Amino acid sequence: MEMKKFLCENCKKTIEVPRGTPKPEVCPYCGAPAANIHRIDEGGGRGLGPGRGRRCHSRGSGIF
Ligand SMILES: [Zn+2]
Repeated sequence: MEMKKFLCENCKKTIEVPRGTPKPEVCPYCGAPAANIHRIDEGGGRGLGPGRGRRCHSRGSGIF
């Protein structure tokens, strides 16, 4: 099953929910509100910011 991944900024834990499930309203680990939870999987997220349309395939890039 495909999973969506979120990172809780508060406790730094990864939250995985099945695809089709909405973003958790609170962190299941520490109870932080959704404002602290950010999606981290690479599906359909093309929002890198304005003016950054350059494709960068550098070797050994440390993308976090
Ligand atoms: Zn948390």
